[in-house]
Amino acid sequence: SGKWGRATAIAKELEEQCWTPISKLRQVADALDVEMHAGLASEGGCKLKMLITYVDNLPSGDEKGLFYALDLGGTNFRTLRVHLGGKEKGVVKIESEEVSIPPHLMTGSSQELFDFIASKLAKFVSSEPEELHPPPGRQRELGFTFSFPVKQTSIASGTLIKWTKGFNIEDAVGEDVVGGLTKSLEKIGLDMRVAALVNDTVGTVARARFSNQDVIAGVILGTGTNAAYVECAHAIPKWQGLLPKSGEMVINMEWGNFCSSHLPLTEYDQALDAESLNPGEQIFEKIVSGMYLGDIVRRVLLKMAEEVDFFGDTVPPKLRIPFVLRTPDMSAMHHDTSSDLKVVGNKLKDILEINNTSLKTRKIVVELCDIVATRGARLSAAGIFSILKKIGRDTVKDGKKQKSVVALDGGLFEHYAKFRSSLESTLKELLGDEADETVGIEHSNDGSGIGAALLAASNSQYL
Ligand code: ADP
Ligand code: MG
Repeated sequence: SGKWGRATAIAKELEEQCWTPISKLRQVADALDVEMHAGLASEGGCKLKMLITYVDNLPSGDEKGLFYALDLGGTNFRTLRVHLGGKEKGVVKIESEEVSIPPHLMTGSSQELFDFIASKLAKFVSSEPEELHPPPGRQRELGFTFSFPVKQTSIASGTLIKWTKGFNIEDAVGEDVVGGLTKSLEKIGLDMRVAALVNDTVGTVARARFSNQDVIAGVILGTGTNAAYVECAHAIPKWQGLLPKSGEMVINMEWGNFCSSHLPLTEYDQALDAESLNPGEQIFEKIVSGMYLGDIVRRVLLKMAEEVDFFGDTVPPKLRIPFVLRTPDMSAMHHDTSSDLKVVGNKLKDILEINNTSLKTRKIVVELCDIVATRGARLSAAGIFSILKKIGRDTVKDGKKQKSVVALDGGLFEHYAKFRSSLESTLKELLGDEADETVGIEHSNDGSGIGAALLAASNSQYL
């Protein structure tokens, strides 16, 4: 058969391998549930770390005052000043600055990274007007959102387990994250106390809980993916400390590292993983999150170019560059509604230097985007479903319609509309009509930043 037949066959094979019928999603959710129990029972040996966050008191809505936050996630980092006004006024004011992290700092030394962060924070603070200065003898307080797996030893300390996403700074692994930052703050002469060390998922839960007491979980779909939820303290056998008064503890699942034979994995995923900074790790993240989706599509296009001359008799050289096709561009192509798929044509030209593509070619590109995004979205829904199942919120018990809200945040969820709608409809399908009525999804805007400031407030030394 000709080029089209063989290209269609590659797309068809991808579709079959990425297929996620509800029965498969239930198997994935069950496998997650098993791993959740294992991760809560003991330390180590599990795919899901189920990290204890030391957040056993979520915001009540009464938090007040001026607090700072640092949000270090994927490629950017932000400094925030958050003015909290308690029950009546809520979040009064947010001021923030965003800086992109110079790539060499993502794989350099930890001291360089922390010095860079501290200097940006110092600059942010130094531009404050007099009236925002704390009274003499009072320290500024900071919530530090550090979105990598950390083994916490208290609300404001913890050691880095490993890097993920694009980071790889060897000398930081096993070291206290807050200690590192504090050293840099002292060096630069900035008098600020790190009052809380939080994962972005935990910040998302905290932010959403400040305004809505039905919130039970937070999910990030951004550069990476992860989730945190409110667990009953009795259900955490590995917890050695006193039971918290609230009876609850927020657990950071680190679900990006989930892996199971039930996950639909393809040759492209395997190659992406093998060539990544962290082979064998973060497999769920590598098929769901924003850092990777575009690159999966690129890999399929490369195979088509190599094996069936999909873009002519030579392979477009740009197509060989890892991560050249970014998820926002994939998303733009996927949402192209023009009759001649103009956006797709332009993206192929501008990013991959492939000119004069036919409508037929463009249609196949859109199909690939759809297959890869749909798999990620449906697997995310299975993840959310597994949390609801774990805490018994997946069914309506004795007619009791207790409301459960899951807060989501991250660039992928926010901006990739087709991803988001597929996630929402799949979750509905998994829950069924009755239970779906009791479960809500909400966008927790800037949860990772504001949530950290809220947790700094509830862990202030001046309470
Ligand atoms: P982080 O996860 O690094 O803290 P964000 O939550 O802002 O940061 O997420 C950024 C990620 O979101 C990007 O890496 C990208 O993959 C994804 N993203 C951003 N914009 C879009 C878009 N328009 N369409 C699809 N994905 C997007
Ligand atoms: Mg983030």
